[in-house]
Amino acid sequence: MTAVTEHAAAQTLSEQLGALDLAARLALVASLGGRSVFTTSLGIEDQVITAAIGLNRLPIEVATLDTGRLFKETAVLIGETEERFGIEIVCFHPEQDEVDEYASRYGLNGFYGSVEARHACCGVRKLKPLARALEGASFWITGLRRGQSGNRAETPFAEYDAERNLIKINPLADWDIATLQAYVADNAVPVNPLHARGYPSIGCEPCTRAIKPGEPERAGRWWWENDEKRECGLHVPEAALPSLNSSSL
Ligand code: SF4
Repeated sequence: MTAVTEHAAAQTLSEQLGALDLAARLALVASLGGRSVFTTSLGIEDQVITAAIGLNRLPIEVATLDTGRLFKETAVLIGETEERFGIEIVCFHPEQDEVDEYASRYGLNGFYGSVEARHACCGVRKLKPLARALEGASFWITGLRRGQSGNRAETPFAEYDAERNLIKINPLADWDIATLQAYVADNAVPVNPLHARGYPSIGCEPCTRAIKPGEPERAGRWWWENDEKRECGLHVPEAALPSLNSSSL
């Protein structure tokens, strides 16, 4: 298929998914053939998707990016979640030689120094492991929601990711926090205790802070950067990011 037909197919799928509930959205994707991979950061959105996959025994692989800089609460939650739902969460790690190269060029915490250095760190610790997690996948399932930030306000249920040549599925695109919390309570879904301490969005420990009342959900991510569109690069085209090519390592 060409990119144009892939985009059209994703748009049709997006319309179909919009009419279904969460379990049916995931089941439809799993029925389409090819590998479906869900990448979880263990945040509340991703815990809900993991629960729906586990409780409905859906043939969807669950993977996480263990950057080596996660909160200990997040690391503990991986095991708790596997046990609760009887699933395996496959961890993808950064390559040690690339981590060492980054540290010698920028310093271990060099990401505070510039946007370029921050994107380079995310490139080594997140983007490259993500590429390995998605190798050969037809569908990539994520926990993106329209309400998370202005940058995500137009998130469709399905979209063609030309860079990775797969269809990205966002089955919670239209969910709000109250709906997530109700699902968690109804299904005894384990969640990261950091949510209750003011962290609605949880990434790597050195790059995440609690938010203040009234701040947007993702205001605690890379809070020192003065850019409303800050993302780690997982969900924006690489070409739109500064210095995320291999020479930036
Ligand atoms: S979130 Fe921070 S520590 Fe984690 S990969 Fe990105 S820059 Fe590095």
